[in-house]
Amino acid sequence: MATFFQSVRQGFGRGGNNKNNPPKSPVHSPAPHAHQGGAMSNSPSLSNSLTLDNLAANDPDGPKYFFQEKYAPLNVRGNFLTLCACPKNVELGEWLAHQIVEQYRLLHGMLQVIQEVNSVTGLPICNENTCPTMSAGRLTYTWLVEGRAAKISAPKFINRVEKWIVSKIHDPVMFPTDKLTGTPETFAIKEAKSTGGGAAPNTPDNASAGTNGPASSDEWIGQSSGFPQTFYKDCQGIMKQMFRCYAHLYHAHWLNPFWHINKHDILNMCFVHFVTVAKYYQLVSDKEMEPMQPLIDLFIKQQRVPPEALNGGHWSQQVST
Ligand SMILES: [Zn+2]
Repeated sequence: MATFFQSVRQGFGRGGNNKNNPPKSPVHSPAPHAHQGGAMSNSPSLSNSLTLDNLAANDPDGPKYFFQEKYAPLNVRGNFLTLCACPKNVELGEWLAHQIVEQYRLLHGMLQVIQEVNSVTGLPICNENTCPTMSAGRLTYTWLVEGRAAKISAPKFINRVEKWIVSKIHDPVMFPTDKLTGTPETFAIKEAKSTGGGAAPNTPDNASAGTNGPASSDEWIGQSSGFPQTFYKDCQGIMKQMFRCYAHLYHAHWLNPFWHINKHDILNMCFVHFVTVAKYYQLVSDKEMEPMQPLIDLFIKQQRVPPEALNGGHWSQQVST
């Protein structure tokens, strides 16, 4: 039974968790270093952010300060591996479910920042005018509408992603919290194999190959906790959409509002945590992460994304211990 995840999910409200909310009202005050020349001197006037709100937020040729080391601080120290690695006594499926919920909670907090309504314009910071498409630099993400890829505005896209993720998290089939009624011998088989040391771990490569488990058996991640066969693939799908939201947050809104309200370090903290989980459990492909690659490379170089999260992550850790 998914008891661990059940206990975690109880704290997750449909309306969003406000525990670690970013500030309610973005104050468009100049950032501390905004007028001290240097690279920021080319930025739009920081004291004129009302005008900025009406400009296209996503200038693909605009300067990408967020890829530069001096603009990439974190507001915390420590190793994100400790938050990310699956404890020995917790089943991997339950742990992944917990990670997904936690990652969504963090992302939701960041999305609320750009959803804040400007009291002068009456529009959210991310609106149909600033972000007519869901873009990250030159890349535009599309949404499937009646089987066809459609370019929809970023606020619409993000709204759909959020609803979709919340519906997945609350879907009792995808994220079960009830006791298993199926075959209890699954536990015994699993136990025997894991203590025998000979069983191959459920690798993501196998799981994403379409069978959701090693070809030689019908096991899958989360099986013993009652998660469906598609569980790992669904986790990948959710994390992919979450990544796209982060890519838009950086490319379109790093300067306004995150830099303006001096919350870019919190955005970085959430993103480093996200990337660590994504890499450690191979939930988002390298190709998908390309729009944020320079920042990811920087975080890897600084070991903010810990080395253990790379090169196989969880599964290589399992083999080496
Ligand atoms: Zn936007």
